[in-house]
Amino acid sequence: MKEIKTISAIKEEVKEIKDKGKTIGFVPTMGFLHEGHRSLIKKAKESCEYVVVSIFVNPTQFGPQEDYEIYPRDLDRDLKICEEDGVDLVFTPLVKEMYPKGYNTFLNIEKITDVLCGAKRPGHFRGVATVVAKFLNIVKPNVAFFGEKDYQQLIVIKRMVEDLNMDIDIIGCPIIREDDGLAKSSRNKYLDEEQRKAATILYDTLQKGEKLIRDNIYSIPDIKESLKKHMATKSILEIDYVEILNANTLEPPKSLDEKLVIALAAKIGETRLIDNCIIGG
Ligand code: AMP
Repeated sequence: MKEIKTISAIKEEVKEIKDKGKTIGFVPTMGFLHEGHRSLIKKAKESCEYVVVSIFVNPTQFGPQEDYEIYPRDLDRDLKICEEDGVDLVFTPLVKEMYPKGYNTFLNIEKITDVLCGAKRPGHFRGVATVVAKFLNIVKPNVAFFGEKDYQQLIVIKRMVEDLNMDIDIIGCPIIREDDGLAKSSRNKYLDEEQRKAATILYDTLQKGEKLIRDNIYSIPDIKESLKKHMATKSILEIDYVEILNANTLEPPKSLDEKLVIALAAKIGETRLIDNCIIGG
């Protein structure tokens, strides 16, 4: 396995691989790898001949009051995991490599970023889309793998790739969870014992929501209200949003028969957690 830090060296490596006619699978991450990331690597290994993982905590997707500085990092451990999982190349650029002096170009994906995390974290998806577009231009993968854990991100990246006519398949991969249902996340590390226990309410709420939707008795506003009340039973948790949207357009659904996403975000102490589930379609 190779670790490369510069864009010029990655481009050379990628050219060699492409010249050999190999397909490239790409998994972008912010590191501190867990089973969720590893499931994407596994998917990439299954369908591509050469797998590239990027590890980069992208400053442009964090707001000024967010956790960029303290985001968990452990590059040595991450490299060991990548090696174990059969990754071919790990791209670990420094911030100044990705955003050199004078950098001035940002991507704005409209409308689908007006809701959910886009509404709550201004500028977040501008940063995500920009860094992912840069990675896709640098790594030139045939296929890129994203987790459904960050569902809006997946929709944004699919939109961007289609709108900018990039010849790359974007594959969404299922959410990997802890035994008690909590979605695996690098940020779970921030939770103390009491917070960790309370965090299971997110998955619990999704399951309740799924049941209420499948029962097909209550209206969407009533279901949302009921889910909010359910989440509020954990008083240490501060709800950011509880939404039920069309899973493709992220617009308000007209009926319960559409493919729907229940999306949740909440803060427990200083830690912001998100989760979602897809129903129907
Ligand atoms: P991150 O390092 O948090 O930016 O995540 C990198 C990629 O891993 C993104 O595509 C995430 O959606 C995905 N991912 C993170 N957590 C999970 C999880 N629990 N299950 C599946 N994919 C995940």
